[in-house]
Amino acid sequence: MNKGLIIRSTGSWYEILTEDKHVWKGRLKGKFKIKGLQTSNPIAVGDRVKFDIEDTLENTAIIYEIEQRENYIIRKSVHKTAQGHILAANLDQAVIIVTLNYPKTSLGFLDRFLVTAESFRIPVTIVFNKIDLLSEDEKDHLADLAALYEELGYPCVFTSALENIGIQSFEEVLKNKITLISGHSGVGKSSLVNMIAPELDLKTTEISSYANKGVHTTTFATMFEISEGTFIIDTPGIKELGLIDIEREELSHFFPEMRDRLGECKFHNCLHLNEPKCAILEAVAEGEIAASRYSSYLSMMDGDDNRR
Ligand code: GDP
Ligand code: ZN
Repeated sequence: MNKGLIIRSTGSWYEILTEDKHVWKGRLKGKFKIKGLQTSNPIAVGDRVKFDIEDTLENTAIIYEIEQRENYIIRKSVHKTAQGHILAANLDQAVIIVTLNYPKTSLGFLDRFLVTAESFRIPVTIVFNKIDLLSEDEKDHLADLAALYEELGYPCVFTSALENIGIQSFEEVLKNKITLISGHSGVGKSSLVNMIAPELDLKTTEISSYANKGVHTTTFATMFEISEGTFIIDTPGIKELGLIDIEREELSHFFPEMRDRLGECKFHNCLHLNEPKCAILEAVAEGEIAASRYSSYLSMMDGDDNRR
């Protein structure tokens, strides 16, 4: 029996990495189906599979079983009729790289990412990059932000890829884990990864030329082993991770600071908008819940915001 890890997917072919570092080109056996979960892609990056070798010279394999996933992130299809699309499976964590400036990452964007990760039960570390560009005032602001997010349970790391600050901490965060790395374009994702895995050269690793040949116009994530046992998953287009479909009634469950207070609202179906005796509104008024977080909550409540 052969076992391996899916490190790349085109929608019809899958690269399977085995423990002895061999990469097989696998496809699915005839009518392969996963019980219970109907998605446009049966297998995703991060899946652990069992396979038979088909042709040793051609390096091909037939996947016949997929192990139970510990978690996965799924992108709901934009087309109402179509099924969802699994972006990646079995993640240990996500790292979101943000910058206060150049480009400015909005807190709304960060919070939406955190909520999405909460909904998939994936822990997140926030990496603030380009700290070399911050003024003294901005550094104070950053310290406040980091204190807020640390308190909510999201560890924060400060880096400068340019000035080689915090790179060791960044490396520590990733070590021996499978990590989804996200962030707006231009925040320094490639620069940071290149600092710890120069041989990878993330920018030149073509993702788009490889995939996108199938029926679905979705892009696929790719997994890289940056050192023994340390993997990163680069998702083309972070916006896709914002495509969540959380019910309005559920949204507050994915804000840790709200989750703890939910039992205290007068109405059990309180949406924390303008209801009387709402524990969340009271906590916001008293400054126990950050105004910026509540404002993110409101914008996510707005409907299309998290479905676009
Ligand atoms: P990506 O799109 O997230 O992969 O971002 P890149 O790694 O390509 O970086 C975008 C730009 O920001 C490049 O010009 C980098 O040289 C620059 N950059 C990356 N990290 C830093 C940093 O820590 N400080 C400064 N000042 N510039 C950085
Ligand atoms: Zn309430």
